[in-house]
Amino acid sequence: MRMWGVNPALLCDKHLLGEHVEMHMFVGALKKGISTRGYEETGLVALPKIRARHDALAREMKRRGMNHRSPLPRIAGRRRGGWIDEAANLRELKRRCPECRKRIRRHEGRGRVVSERRA
Ligand SMILES: [Zn+2]
Ligand SMILES: [Zn+2]
Repeated sequence: MRMWGVNPALLCDKHLLGEHVEMHMFVGALKKGISTRGYEETGLVALPKIRARHDALAREMKRRGMNHRSPLPRIAGRRRGGWIDEAANLRELKRRCPECRKRIRRHEGRGRVVSERRA
């Protein structure tokens, strides 16, 4: 499970859907009291950003005409912990996924801001 945290428009369909499912999996783990510490400590998730990230991914899915019928369950209390490195994640996606690479290059070519803006 991994929160990429990059601009959702830069993700290929597979990575968009994958990250979305994984946000549900993180919340599922938290609800069941399963530790996510291994992910937090290795820069794979930032717990306070899960909800906003889920919603951003769901918006991008809808924009691409995909179904989203899975509101994120509530979790008790605010969760702290974890971190992600969005710039490193962008490089990683570019390296490992040809489809993401195409999208990222297209974006860079247009001189757009690549990193996601945070509210
Ligand atoms: Zn969802
Ligand atoms: Zn991809």
